[in-house]
Amino acid sequence: MKLTLQLQLLPTSEQKTDLLATMIRFNDAANFAAQQGFAAKVFGQVSIHRLCYRAIRDRFGLSAQMTVRAIAKAVECFQRYKKICPVFKLHGAITYDERVMSFKSLTEVSLWGLAGRHRMPFVCGAYQKALQGRIKGQADLVYRDKKFYLLCTINMPENTPIEVQNAIGVDCGIINLATDSTGEEFTGVNVEKVRQQYAWRRRVLNRCGTKSARRRLNKIRRREANFRRNENHRISKRLVAKAKATASVIVLENLKGIRERVSVHGRQRAKHSGWAFRQLQTFMEYKAKLAGVSVLFVDPRNTSKTCSRCGHCDRGNRRTQAEFRCLHCNYSTNADFNAALNLRAKAGINPAIVGVVEAKAGNLLNCG
Ligand SMILES: [Zn+2]
Repeated sequence: MKLTLQLQLLPTSEQKTDLLATMIRFNDAANFAAQQGFAAKVFGQVSIHRLCYRAIRDRFGLSAQMTVRAIAKAVECFQRYKKICPVFKLHGAITYDERVMSFKSLTEVSLWGLAGRHRMPFVCGAYQKALQGRIKGQADLVYRDKKFYLLCTINMPENTPIEVQNAIGVDCGIINLATDSTGEEFTGVNVEKVRQQYAWRRRVLNRCGTKSARRRLNKIRRREANFRRNENHRISKRLVAKAKATASVIVLENLKGIRERVSVHGRQRAKHSGWAFRQLQTFMEYKAKLAGVSVLFVDPRNTSKTCSRCGHCDRGNRRTQAEFRCLHCNYSTNADFNAALNLRAKAGINPAIVGVVEAKAGNLLNCG
């Protein structure tokens, strides 16, 4: 499986200046290649190369390999869409391959720039170190928040799938980001706090409308997204480890249509749309794959209003967002937990091994 490893580069100020100049020149060249190809109605690597390789080298002073890469950037765009000529940003990404980039040690990389090759260290924690041997030939150099990053593709072996003996249902909610069928809850309290702080600052900045306000706005947005991503990494890691330890399949809701399913109004709407349910699932999916844990997606219909104990399905069972009480058997519990149990039951695996409450899968499926 392919993953992306992000390395933050630590260039000197001269190196930084040159890398920025290289980016501008590279994107200029890619724009030129795109325009030439577009005008002549040719969209392939070979044909654009034939058309303007020489001109790019003369005009932009890029190395042979960088010229090929600049053309490739235009070609990649054309592969998706040919009707509009793409325009690349000044500081858009550069793709480096092994001819213009090499790792000199565990903490140093050398990159081609207009002024020559630059050798520079990068931030490297235990995680990066462990994975470095897996970096394949290519990486994207990107510039974000005044910092340079190399996004390296790495190839990870997948673990052989574990034989499934159990199931863990995971319900993604609003009050709790995730609740699993063993009863563990992952609250969104911290995330919600951060989101509200940022939302307030965003409102103030939005009113300003100046350039610097916009820049700060972007920064805030990214910080919020980072925080959320970290939380999602933490939760998914924990859940996958649990599934592995108990030889369980992870049962997730098929989230297509979740926005329609959960009734959201007013204040909650912002909260909800701001929530990256899908990201949490994606993280679980790939971490599970690496660990050899299976993931099953099931139709979530009625999982929130069906009783996990007796199978009675009724809108009235769900008294509030947080509370579930069955109108038939009077069973009462946390609503997310009840939904997680129902998801688990949908996996069709005999319950009562790790389950806290037995779910009657038959009734439930009839009802759903
Ligand atoms: Zn019931």
